[in-house]
Amino acid sequence: MKIEIPQKAAQILQTLNEAGYEAYVVGGCVRDSILNREPGDWDITTSALPEQVKALFRRTVDTGIQHGTVTVMIEKEGFEVTTYRVDGEYHDGRHPEKVTFTRSLEEDLKRRDFTINAMAYHPEHGLVDLFGGMEDIDKKIIRCVGNPVERFTEDALRMLRAVRFSAQLGFEVEENTKAALSRMSGNLEHVSAERIQTELVKLLVSTHPDYLRTAWETGLTRKFLPEFDACMETEQNTPHHCYSVGEHILKSLTEIEADRLLRTTMLLHDIAKPVVKKTDENGRDHFKTHGSAGEKLAGKILRRLKFDNATIRSTCRLIRYHDLRPAPTPEDVRRCVNLIGEDLFPLYLKIQKADLLAQSTYKREEKLSRLNGVIKAYQEILERGECTSLKTLAVTGNDLIRAGHPAGPALGELLSRLLDAVLKDPSLNTKEKLLFLAAERSETE
Ligand code: ATP
Ligand code: MG
Repeated sequence: MKIEIPQKAAQILQTLNEAGYEAYVVGGCVRDSILNREPGDWDITTSALPEQVKALFRRTVDTGIQHGTVTVMIEKEGFEVTTYRVDGEYHDGRHPEKVTFTRSLEEDLKRRDFTINAMAYHPEHGLVDLFGGMEDIDKKIIRCVGNPVERFTEDALRMLRAVRFSAQLGFEVEENTKAALSRMSGNLEHVSAERIQTELVKLLVSTHPDYLRTAWETGLTRKFLPEFDACMETEQNTPHHCYSVGEHILKSLTEIEADRLLRTTMLLHDIAKPVVKKTDENGRDHFKTHGSAGEKLAGKILRRLKFDNATIRSTCRLIRYHDLRPAPTPEDVRRCVNLIGEDLFPLYLKIQKADLLAQSTYKREEKLSRLNGVIKAYQEILERGECTSLKTLAVTGNDLIRAGHPAGPALGELLSRLLDAVLKDPSLNTKEKLLFLAAERSETE
């Protein structure tokens, strides 16, 4: 096994070696190199103590010095160099109470979560694989180092990491490890929302976002996203659907590109369906208002998971309008762009497509043809540079004031009426015509 180590990382290993310390690249970069994936970062593990590492390099940052991590800066690039360590006891299933440094690489590898993440590599000594990581890569399985129940007791986040790596790599969670997930899932309660969010997002933007199903099967989603469990339990008796709400969500995730905002929106687009479901006298299910109810529920969930405000705002807005179906006419589409927002409208189109492809094939051709008509109308609106918001309206509030219209709330009202006229007839979007229209409007009042 030969791994191409970037020159700067190799230089750090060499400096440490020349000073008499052991040093290896370790963890994710070794795993990804073996899998022919581009490693995100090159982490280094060493027998040198943090102070000794710092003494050897000109520029270092104390990123996690209490855990033994020093970031070594080579030019503008940072490399995390961590002293071999044994994690002490975990009292809260969150953080090791204290870490102890060790002289043994084996001890350091033993504390790592999964066999595929517990390999180290050195250009001269080759691969150090003490727990069958290579074999598990061949078998395509995620397996804990050591006893999975103990490992998940130490740090409950590892459970979600198991599902996340499985989704990123297309691997199965090994049987004993999976059984431990089901047994220990309750412990996820002790994990902070921030850490859960990080893993959830990585899972969502992975190649197999539908592997979220494993998190559901093993009881993990019940702890951090019980609303999704409700979706898995909600059938949809309507010709438009062939899956439960939850299975529809999983399918829709696979129908949209791997983008954080798009996948988060897809995850939550139908999240309020269980709450608003009504069954009529013929036994058919209806989910009226699930868009606006979804907007509220998604906001609550995203805040609970500590998402940033910009993401919450965009996701909620997309969810609110995800089911809006304008006719494929220029005017309807302009109004729809205005309502959803110019920035979000292209995303809304992608969401509609994915949503549609995750439904039953009932009326699929008609649905696709309407959507394609909307997409075409939207492209033409862009090509013609038509106004779809106040931003590009040919008059501003100041123009109106200068023309003698009184400032105040009536001005906003007037602007939105002018915009309304322009959405109907884009040829009205000149300063001259709009000032004329404004004068006419205020006279008739
Ligand atoms: P990526 O960076 O691609 O998400 P990674 O494997 O590098 O994946 P990191 O979270 O960067 O994951 O962690 C680096 C390494 O540290 C892991 O490969 C693993 O060996 C170890 N590790 C990280 N988190 C844990 C944990 N919660 N429990 C045990 N070991 C962990
Ligand atoms: Mg990493």
